[in-house]
Amino acid sequence: MGQVTLRGLRKSYDAVEVIRGIDLEVQDGEFMVFVGPSGCGKSTTLRMIAGLESITGGDLMIDGVRANDLRPADRGAAMVFQSYALYPHMTVAENMGFSLKMSGVKRAERDDQVARTAGILRITELLGRFPKDLSGGQRQRVAIGRAIVRKPKVFLFDEPLSNLDAALRVNMRIELSRLHKELGSTMIYVTHDQVEAMTMGDRIAVFNKGIVEQLGAPMDLYNRPANEFVATFLGAPRINLVDMPTSASTQAHQALWAALKQDAMPSVVRLGVRPEHLHVLAPGQGTPATVALAEHLGDSSILHLRVDGVADLLHAKVGADSSHYTAGTTVGLSPDANWVMAFDAAGRAVR
Ligand code: ADP
Ligand code: MG
Repeated sequence: MGQVTLRGLRKSYDAVEVIRGIDLEVQDGEFMVFVGPSGCGKSTTLRMIAGLESITGGDLMIDGVRANDLRPADRGAAMVFQSYALYPHMTVAENMGFSLKMSGVKRAERDDQVARTAGILRITELLGRFPKDLSGGQRQRVAIGRAIVRKPKVFLFDEPLSNLDAALRVNMRIELSRLHKELGSTMIYVTHDQVEAMTMGDRIAVFNKGIVEQLGAPMDLYNRPANEFVATFLGAPRINLVDMPTSASTQAHQALWAALKQDAMPSVVRLGVRPEHLHVLAPGQGTPATVALAEHLGDSSILHLRVDGVADLLHAKVGADSSHYTAGTTVGLSPDANWVMAFDAAGRAVR
């Protein structure tokens, strides 16, 4: 079992409240991702679950038992840090077996457990090495191995891939998803990277300033965000937001708004459309726009577009056959009306 429930969880440092009431339930065997910008309280929440920070208010339940005041070792949670935190004077095998040794597990059983874990992580050939003789990716595997041998009910990961280069991060992302399937354990994974969140999570909790803005399956959050914060945080390039025009606004701004807005929704002050849903047409069709910058990525291009009178540049994601667009090209824009999102003055999604 490995069910984690947070009820009205709070944390203050002196007079400053950094976690302001979090309610969520992580199911047994679930891969839950906490995502949000730096400083929003992801690590603090994870550390409260691990027992590395005291809890100021609310309840932490692990498998139905209130765990607020349990010692870290009694919570059944194992944490993996961004910094790896390996013991430099111990071999890989010794690092991985250390916690078992501390809790009195016999040599033979320890070796067996370490060997099995090394097999799962594909690091068997590294067992005799010291941390200084390992690459970053290998060190991270050892750190994960050290958590696995403890057979925790719940794994807690705090940005474990942030120190790795881009290619290795993609690799480890896939490895961790495989590991989750293989072990079937509950995992709570903290990241500021929306791609990791989208690709790894069974569900995602989007954090902002010490609260959870929205909790749900990745594609639900992407397609049906509860508010502008979630809509903007998930997706790169980020969603285009267009303010309601006034009578003084340009014709182009008013035309764009009219193309976006389908029904009468009185409380709406801003509309959003993702770059992949903003179609680029020949000039003369749709809303007139000028390419300010074209980024050709090979498989696709990102066009940064200026619409006369609209403050922010708009972003459109177009296909591989778009290398003829350059700065200064005139185009027409047509949003896919099926995917337009509407927001009220408080930033809440209006449906
Ligand atoms: P995240 O992991 O999402 O980047 P953290 O959980 O580390 O964010 O931090 C959340 C907030 O709590 C931040 O504003 C941070 O400055 C504050 N904070 C974290 N640790 C302490 C501490 N020991 N004392 C005071 N404030 C802290
Ligand atoms: Mg953090």
